[in-house]
Amino acid sequence: MGLVQDTLEIVWKRNPGEREFLQAVTEVLTSVEPVIERYKKYRDGKILARIVEPERQVMFRVPWVDDKGEIQVNRGFRIQFNSAIGPYKGGLRFHPTVCASILKFLGFEQVFKNSLTTLPMGGGKGGADFNVHGKSDNEVMRFCQSFMTELFRHIGPDTDVPAGDIGVGGREIGYLYGQYKRLRNEFTGVLTGKGLGWGGSLIRPEATGYGAVYFSQEMLKTRNESFAGKVCTVSGSGNVAQYTIEKLNQLGAKAVSVSDSNGTVHDPDGINPEKLAYLMDLKNVRRGRIKEYAEKYKVKYLDGQRPWGIQCDCAFPSATENEISGEDAKTLLDNGCILVAEGANMPTEPAGIRQFLAKKIHYGPGKAANAGGVATSGLEMCQNSMRLAWTREEVDQRLQRIMVTIHKVSSEAAAEYGQPHNLEMGANIAGFVKVADAMLDQGLV
Ligand code: NDP
Repeated sequence: MGLVQDTLEIVWKRNPGEREFLQAVTEVLTSVEPVIERYKKYRDGKILARIVEPERQVMFRVPWVDDKGEIQVNRGFRIQFNSAIGPYKGGLRFHPTVCASILKFLGFEQVFKNSLTTLPMGGGKGGADFNVHGKSDNEVMRFCQSFMTELFRHIGPDTDVPAGDIGVGGREIGYLYGQYKRLRNEFTGVLTGKGLGWGGSLIRPEATGYGAVYFSQEMLKTRNESFAGKVCTVSGSGNVAQYTIEKLNQLGAKAVSVSDSNGTVHDPDGINPEKLAYLMDLKNVRRGRIKEYAEKYKVKYLDGQRPWGIQCDCAFPSATENEISGEDAKTLLDNGCILVAEGANMPTEPAGIRQFLAKKIHYGPGKAANAGGVATSGLEMCQNSMRLAWTREEVDQRLQRIMVTIHKVSSEAAAEYGQPHNLEMGANIAGFVKVADAMLDQGLV
């Protein structure tokens, strides 16, 4: 049996039942197998066995009091996966499904994604099984304060710099930052995604969605295509989905769907800027359900469904993991979809990825396509360290350059290993090599 298979067997034994983590590790290790075969230094240095084990994993109790005066208890986590190339960096997710498996998969992916951005950031992820839906602002604040009361001892601007993810947006980052500042008595860049008036970066809210579209533009350019007139389906209706739609509109494409965990809206005329402003208010201010969009604009609401049955040229999964099954992938391909760019992390099941690669459509894997978010977090850290703020244009240009570079290095790595169209393989290899070399340079860490 080969080294990759041996390592996977150990990972399966050590992490029983952690489905998402095992899925992510299997994908990356399978992709980098040719690199391991080519270079003895990675085999001798036992890089595979080391890279699949988080450097540190913290799990803690988060007690808080709800508006009725009742005590609630949640479970908090921080997975500090790999610090070979910089401080741990990765978001916090607040969602009822949060568990070790989900955060370990996200932390593992983050290691290679951060490496691809060209910025000095290690990989980590954290969060809690807390449901922000239906909670008052005060409840969210009390929860965030309690969460940070434990987390603060594990993080720092040169140690570990968390950001947002599902359920953690500007409001939550504000409450978390306030509590960190109070506990440490210092104003540092310990979190990214901060408000503009207190250390945040312009373009950070937009960055993941914009970045996914910039990455897709690079894929389209390889076949002399553009977004003009393309019909695009988007899933989710949160941060990533909203700014994906904004950028698609700017480039002349038509986004025809959004969704949440209850269902999908199909708006064949397109979610124009006026409708997008309504959506942003609905989701970010009123915190309502997507069904209200369908009622307001009198368009179809597909209860309990995802958008993948809607005919499109390009699909932007921007909600959550494993939201495109093998069957969904087949439907997308049968309906003529030529591009899938993953705004979400690991949104396509392995059976779906196999079909996209076999058909050689433009397939942008999450760790490349959605790396614009963490890249701009890296730019926020840089501005915080220098204690200055770049203009919108400057950050946007840097983001664009980073997305172009990620596409280039992923394509080159894919070509070097004989599969030029396969950006999944290319992104995994390009991200892996830099981290693995740093680990070898730093001795047995
Ligand atoms: P938000 O919380 O802003 O929005 C999440 C959206 O996805 C909501 O519409 C939510 O619906 C929907 N959703 C969440 N879970 C599920 C589920 N289990 N089934 C169906 N729909 C679901 O999160 P983001 O937009 O920030 O994140 C979306 C994805 O992008 C995630 O995979 C995240 O890891 C990834 N990502 C985010 C980055 C960022 O900068 N924010 C960076 C890189 C990747 P509902 O309201 O019903 O819960």
